[in-house]
Amino acid sequence: MLEPVAADKSYCWHPFTRQGEWCDPDHDPLMIVRAEGVWLYDSFGKKYLDGNSSIWTNIHGHSRPEIISAIQRQAATLAHSSFLGLGHPLASELAEKLVSYFAPNTLERVFFSDNGSTAIEVALKMSLQSRLQTGQGKRVRFLAFDNAYHGDTLGAASLGGVSRFCSRAGSPGFTVERLGSIADLDHIDPETITALVIEPLIQGVNEMRPWPPGMLKQLREWTSRHGVHLVLDEVMTGFGRTGTMFACQNENENVTPDFICLAKGLTGGTLPLAATITTAAVYETFLGADENAFYYGHSYTANPLGCAAAIASLKLFESARTFIHLPAKIAYLAESLQQLESTHPAIHETRQCGLISGIELRQANGEKFPANLRIGEKITQAARAHGLITRNILDTIVLMPPLSITREELDFAIHAIGKAIGNYDPAAC
Ligand SMILES: *Cc1c(COP(=O)(O)O)cnc(C)c1O
Repeated sequence: MLEPVAADKSYCWHPFTRQGEWCDPDHDPLMIVRAEGVWLYDSFGKKYLDGNSSIWTNIHGHSRPEIISAIQRQAATLAHSSFLGLGHPLASELAEKLVSYFAPNTLERVFFSDNGSTAIEVALKMSLQSRLQTGQGKRVRFLAFDNAYHGDTLGAASLGGVSRFCSRAGSPGFTVERLGSIADLDHIDPETITALVIEPLIQGVNEMRPWPPGMLKQLREWTSRHGVHLVLDEVMTGFGRTGTMFACQNENENVTPDFICLAKGLTGGTLPLAATITTAAVYETFLGADENAFYYGHSYTANPLGCAAAIASLKLFESARTFIHLPAKIAYLAESLQQLESTHPAIHETRQCGLISGIELRQANGEKFPANLRIGEKITQAARAHGLITRNILDTIVLMPPLSITREELDFAIHAIGKAIGNYDPAAC
């Protein structure tokens, strides 16, 4: 048997990764072997702060005993059985709990799947099929925004507006009309549109760029007026990340969509599970004729382990008083980002929404660095030496820690980024 790094380089294929560089003999990949709280531990026992919540999934910190024991108990009881033609009590409990976060008679039907991309696929397919069942067969097109990211399966990727991710898979699927801003709606014929899809409050993969406040409310008005479904992709923003349980509940917006798509933080960042929640109006179009059933599902739909983890994570919001502590953390992050920005001229802008933030680096003259310098990547690599693991998106450094992070831990993360930027001399590369 090969040792783990050698076996990885021989047999594994990593996501979004230039494999040639990964497998280079000079590249020493970190192997993470355990985690606790906001800390990840590598195979040498060195610890790193998890600065992007393990790709935006972790909510309450790693190895929370409440979530671990829920998973362990469930694993010893029922690890999996099919949700096709059968039910199980944890899916019932989780669905009821999820619906309880929304006003009565709004979002009230939960369809489970496995990840953010499938949560989007479900919404897209439901929206399209519901049109056929209501004599609106002309509504076959979707609206999505420039630089949007909705996942990597073919349907979700068709909505994506980040060309470096989607241009090489051709242009599959269905028709997507692309919007730059809300003003572009003026040129759209709404009669042919089934749904508008958006990441509410902030576009993640678009270098953490917040939308103008109030825009979501305007989109809700426009979509309601024209009978267009509003699909909210809350895969990143859900579960407290933006300051409220869901981004659509932000005080400037207060919007109820026709579909909400949830994944990443649903299980607190422990197991893959997703949910697409929709209204009775959509759901009821699937009743009646046999062919109106929603013929969609995955082998692990509503996996009981995932459901157990999700229920435990949702309970933690109450027992750990997450929303009591959150506002002070968000304010402290804002202060810390401002301080960082004022110390480092290479920081062009910092952007924040709740506990999501992006730190964008540019040249002294305000222009972007040449892409081939890969400044963002080099800074995040340098931050590792100071004990922080995160990822850049182009030249924007993401800082998006678990909601359980303390002030001291936040100081640690900011300090590591400051050190990495401060030590970095673009002229030297
Ligand atoms: C991560 C993400 C997805 C895709 O989720 P996966 O679980 O990676 O398939 C979709 N939309 C948004 C906004 C995301 O951040």
